[in-house]
Amino acid sequence: MPVELVGIRNLTARYEGMEVLKGIDLKVFAGDYLAVVGPNGSGKSTLIKALLGLVPVREGAITLFGAPQASFDRWERIGYLPQRLKAFNPHFPATVEEIVRLGLLAGKRFPKRRARQDDADLEEILQWLDIAPIRRRLIGELSGGQQQRVLLARAMVNRPELLILDEPTTALDPETREHFYGLVQRLNKNHGVTVILVTHDSATIGRYASRLLYVDKGVVFDGTFEAFCRSPEMAGFFGEYGQHLICQRH
Ligand code: ADP
Repeated sequence: MPVELVGIRNLTARYEGMEVLKGIDLKVFAGDYLAVVGPNGSGKSTLIKALLGLVPVREGAITLFGAPQASFDRWERIGYLPQRLKAFNPHFPATVEEIVRLGLLAGKRFPKRRARQDDADLEEILQWLDIAPIRRRLIGELSGGQQQRVLLARAMVNRPELLILDEPTTALDPETREHFYGLVQRLNKNHGVTVILVTHDSATIGRYASRLLYVDKGVVFDGTFEAFCRSPEMAGFFGEYGQHLICQRH
């Protein structure tokens, strides 16, 4: 039996009375690599924020790791990399190491004590993402790709079982983007981390994700890539060429 990490049932979300999501049903299982796609403004970020408890949910039910969201208190099991800021202020007064340490703090319960294990975890993630050599640099001085690796390190430092990425590669050059996706794929394939990725990189998603969710206020499509590639409905949304592009690389 696959282990359900996220369960969403009949979720409706509104901003100031305006319905942004309606009747969303979704299950995410351990080991999934789910790509969430859809037009701009279709509710993808809101869906992610709702499951993280960042927007209030009054209609529908959400469970995380089997627990109702309202009583879920193991947030260190979830890593979140939000949409990228346009640019960091180059003088933003935090170093790479400090930012990654903030991730450690977020995973602790009150009282927040520093443990020896923290230093070991920090070292490991800095090495793994190849940011140890720049640990004393200010985040705002770094390239876009380096900044994204730092934010990924912050999201990963508690070794979460579920990693949620909201358009993580916006503004990265193609080579850095490939590198970033390679890292995420290794987390999924080699370390068993479940991934939910909101993305516009339709040409590359088929190479990485195992499952595709197309959201446009509701769930328009939810299935494997094989099913997606056979779906005439999806050819309608992406155009035949777009669908071909996504599918030929899978
Ligand atoms: P996507 O991630 O698919 O681009 P979003 O979830 O960001 O879509 O937004 C869905 C809709 O909700 C859009 O119409 C957007 O303008 C609106 N919206 C998003 N965030 C807010 C907010 N904080 N307050 C009011 N409206 C919002």
